[in-house]
Amino acid sequence: MARKIGSRYTAHQILGRGSAGTVWLGEGPGGPVAIKLLREDLAADEELVGRFVGERTALLGLDHPHIVSVRDLVVDGNDLALVMDLVRGTDLRTRLDRERRMAPEAAVAIVADIADGLALAHKAGVVHRDVKPENILLDMEGPLGPGGAHPALLTDFGVAKLIDSPRRTRATKIIGTPDYLAPEIVEGLPPRAAVDIYALATVLYELLAGFTPFGGGHPGAILRRHVTETVVPLPGIPEELWQLLLQCLAKAPASRLRASELAERLRDQLPLLAGIPPLDVDEPDSAEDGAPAQGPYEQTGQEPSAEPERPRRGAVPLVPRATESDSGRDTHTSMRVPGPDELSGGPRGTARAPRATGAPRPGAARARAEAVRRRRVRVGVGGLLLAAVLGVGGWFAFGGGEDGGSPRPGISASP
Ligand code: ADP
Ligand code: MG
Repeated sequence: MARKIGSRYTAHQILGRGSAGTVWLGEGPGGPVAIKLLREDLAADEELVGRFVGERTALLGLDHPHIVSVRDLVVDGNDLALVMDLVRGTDLRTRLDRERRMAPEAAVAIVADIADGLALAHKAGVVHRDVKPENILLDMEGPLGPGGAHPALLTDFGVAKLIDSPRRTRATKIIGTPDYLAPEIVEGLPPRAAVDIYALATVLYELLAGFTPFGGGHPGAILRRHVTETVVPLPGIPEELWQLLLQCLAKAPASRLRASELAERLRDQLPLLAGIPPLDVDEPDSAEDGAPAQGPYEQTGQEPSAEPERPRRGAVPLVPRATESDSGRDTHTSMRVPGPDELSGGPRGTARAPRATGAPRPGAARARAEAVRRRRVRVGVGGLLLAAVLGVGGWFAFGGGEDGGSPRPGISASP
């Protein structure tokens, strides 16, 4: 079922579906390409089309071995499409779903690739804003790197910004994926380059641990944890690597490394990580937050899946799917930014502590009592936040946020 896209491209077959549209395997004048056909409602948005054309130069200008290049933008009748380099392989989410955890060497090699790509983008003044395993593609045809890792490429540059049009913007909404959202975004600051570093460090943690540092439970609880909780060490992680993770997961954006430094420090560590098996880490108790992982489904009226699924960390759907054809990977959040007092209301806790598999827990009874106490506090603070979110913001499909430039007026004064 070939389909013409503009005058120069033909889409042949669907490669994947995402929140912003469908990705096709296509053909152009220069050979095979990947064509991302944006969702109809996005394509019908005149303002978005205007931005799409306006962003042309920035989007087309990023050329790097670890960035999926956008080759062309097509506006044709009802079609709005990004023509990209075709990556023959899989995305990192799929790999992670299959393997659960990666050996440190391969994980670090992949993350170093992406840090390299980000370094170029940040130098060009482009912030990605949606770094997550779904947007990292592994080129199976590329040469094998350290730990047997395939070259990794960051995709969807500028897409978060494109679908984030000013008209959709409310002064109190944010856009992103909750597990990977930097605390400063939750607090209403404009997204700068450091948000990508935080998100990438979250991805590295997830590759090593099998879960994100602050994920699990209700999206509101995830956002709060980014701001108030500290990340818990992973048992068995090499100390230098842990220090690097900690620095890039710092709450203060200025404390995080820059992309080029991160890439360099990660590559420096590769020889030390050779041969280390995946970490032996137990997933923390996921029922801890008192809010079911299916909460967002109920909010959006989406059918819960027939089979009870293990709640998947790192991909919490927050907004209704725009059309049935969209995949379940629509992980953008678009919700009210909690006020500073709501965010600072809780005690400064620590994230749910992972533990080494099979290791006896010292002081288990005391730890359990403490966990119960913390859970109670969490339910209280989480409930407050949830009430605020539902009461004022509600749930919106897409929109919100703003571009990487000027700060939003009045954001910190939101009720
Ligand atoms: P969205 O970000 O809108 O949720 P994606 O950009 O992740 O959607 O695209 C969905 C799927 O399409 C990806 O998981 C991947 O399998 C495939 N895909 C995306 N871009 C490419 C590409 N450049 N080359 C090959 N496959 C791609
Ligand atoms: Mg994507």
